[in-house]
Amino acid sequence: MIEVKNLKKKFGNDLVLKNISLEINDNEVVVVIGPSGSGKSTLLRCIAKLENVSDGKIFFDDIEMTKEKETLRDLRGQLGMVFQHFNLFPNLTVLENIILAPILVKEEKRAKAIVEARRLLALVNLQEKEDAYPNSLSGGQQQRIAIARSLAMHPKVMLFDEPTSALDPEMVGEVLNVMKELAHEGMTMIIVTHEMGFARQVSDRVLFMDDGHIIEENRPNEIFDHPQHQRTKEFLDKILPN
Ligand code: ADP
Ligand code: MG
Repeated sequence: MIEVKNLKKKFGNDLVLKNISLEINDNEVVVVIGPSGSGKSTLLRCIAKLENVSDGKIFFDDIEMTKEKETLRDLRGQLGMVFQHFNLFPNLTVLENIILAPILVKEEKRAKAIVEARRLLALVNLQEKEDAYPNSLSGGQQQRIAIARSLAMHPKVMLFDEPTSALDPEMVGEVLNVMKELAHEGMTMIIVTHEMGFARQVSDRVLFMDDGHIIEENRPNEIFDHPQHQRTKEFLDKILPN
């Protein structure tokens, strides 16, 4: 579904993605781990077309997204992205937040968009909040609304960049549960997270990034129990409780 070939990304003279190649298959859940500054967010942002790449190619299905002429319109809605900070529109209700893009971008009828929004609110277990304003909700609830808002565009792939990092610990589980549910439904996902228990349970594959490279990738149990590279070991020693 997604193929990244020899991707390089520079900020000024700083090469932050150094030659990344990877493939994401349909229905696959891939977790990306690695130290701060290793390029995880930049990789996601390049895939989501939020950054221009400096070199290399990214294909989505068989469309080369990195071609000059390939407009955002062709891809709009096909990739959903959820960030650490949810950025809901504070002046709109939960329901209005969710139906906004389908109506404006996909030109869906309001009534149809509302039916779909209610289905998604049920999926994230927040049916009773459709008339609430974002600021009246907890961080975990807001992040679940952000996920519902993203899903309203019917993306083929969901990208998550540390979706639980800004949450109080007691709210992490409710967001991870929604992501687990999506995984069960077969959503293709790329997830940057430090939640290793979740990664072990839900992912098909884990990529370890360091200093702009993918150092190692494997099934979660392999990478967590038998890391092959010293840098992976050192990172996991720091992050895993024992
Ligand atoms: P991670 O998500 O793994 O913490 P990032 O992808 O955010 O890493 O950052 C990788 C490197 O790129 C870091 O050195 C960061 O400072 C740099 N970087 C990220 N975004 C920008 C930007 N917009 N301008 C300049 N440098 C950036
Ligand atoms: Mg990041």
